[in-house]
Amino acid sequence: MAFMIVPSLCTACGACEFECPNSAISVAGDVYAIDPDKCQECKGEYDTQQCAKVCPIPNTCVPIP
Ligand code: SF4
Ligand code: SF4
Repeated sequence: MAFMIVPSLCTACGACEFECPNSAISVAGDVYAIDPDKCQECKGEYDTQQCAKVCPIPNTCVPIP
């Protein structure tokens, strides 16, 4: 399982990029994106997903459906 960033909602503020313990977040064109192969949902690191926690836009960092 991994999280994703909804591209249509991301404002490319960059707040999430360096909060990810697995360096899974990077710029992808005009927005940011999560590498699903690197995202571990913060398991073993934090109780909550850091990208979702710091993102100022609700429901932008979400589990891949
Ligand atoms: S859920 Fe955690 S590991 Fe996955 S992208 Fe967000 S901050 Fe990184
Ligand atoms: S914190 Fe949210 S709005 Fe900002 S770059 Fe990350 S996903 Fe996009």
